[in-house]
Amino acid sequence: MNQPNFPVARAYRAILRHSRHLTETTKHLEWEVVEGGKFDFLAGQFISMTLRDGANEHTRAYSIASAPGPDGRFAICLNRVPGGLFSNYLCDLEPGARLGFSGPHGFFVVRQPPVERDLIFIATGTGIAPIRGMLAELTAPGAALDRALWLLFGVRHPETILYREEFERMAADQPRFHFVPVLSRAPEGWTGERGHVQEVLRKHFAGQRDFEAYLCGLKAMVDDVRTILKGEFGFDRRQIHYEKYD
Ligand SMILES: Cc1cc2nc3c(=O)[nH]c(=O)nc-3n(C[C@H](O)[C@H](O)[C@H](O)COP(=O)(O)OP(=O)(O)OC[C@H]3O[C@@H](n4cnc5c(N)ncnc54)[C@H](O)[C@@H]3O)c2cc1C
Repeated sequence: MNQPNFPVARAYRAILRHSRHLTETTKHLEWEVVEGGKFDFLAGQFISMTLRDGANEHTRAYSIASAPGPDGRFAICLNRVPGGLFSNYLCDLEPGARLGFSGPHGFFVVRQPPVERDLIFIATGTGIAPIRGMLAELTAPGAALDRALWLLFGVRHPETILYREEFERMAADQPRFHFVPVLSRAPEGWTGERGHVQEVLRKHFAGQRDFEAYLCGLKAMVDDVRTILKGEFGFDRRQIHYEKYD
């Protein structure tokens, strides 16, 4: 199977164009690259943002939460981590702020040319970011969707299902896309899936091994799902693609 051509990482500067809350503690930030030339990336890759504070330089990785487009723009989606240096800085930024970054980095991208298998995406929390970019590309108008796409998205509460309306619209427009939010603290009356993505994966897919899996989120979930896919479902490790957040 071929790999796509990965763009070479370089240094850029970007200006924040829009900032909006997705939840009380999660933000979606849209940036426009203004220095460093054309920023090429593949859906699913990440950037390394830089903050200078006197003589100190801090860098943090953020997945790109959008698909590549012609306008030099990209989005990120991040949680405000209590006491966290960089996430609080970013969440407090106002449009017009400029920041340096390097990228694109990473190999968490949909394999090209596409294999003849259905794809299952599994995310928790802001691990949805790179998968949002991949799904936007796979379901773009004109992209012939010849495989089923499943998104298992684990969060705690209904109001923390990031980009919920967008994924629901995608599922309504694309019969081959299936959106399965999974709530670990579901309220009474919730008719969807409850618990953790691991259990929902077993419930819907146990015994099937003819798909490719793309996983993103905190280390514990990614490690757990990889163990299930390899140990219980009999997956080859090349069918499993993942990005772990520390
Ligand atoms: C490849 C990659 C991609 C990433 N993409 C994203 C992304 O798209 N969106 C996103 O929100 N984050 C993402 N992260 C995590 C991000 O890089 C930072 O670690 C995060 O924003 C916290 O940075 P901070 O400076 O605010 O916290 P720090 O000042 O570094 O840490 C403060 C404290 O918070 C703890 N902590 C750090 N991260 C978390 C967390 N996520 N949850 C709970 N506690 C934490 C630390 O252990 C520490 O005790 C990614 C990480 C990697 C490696």
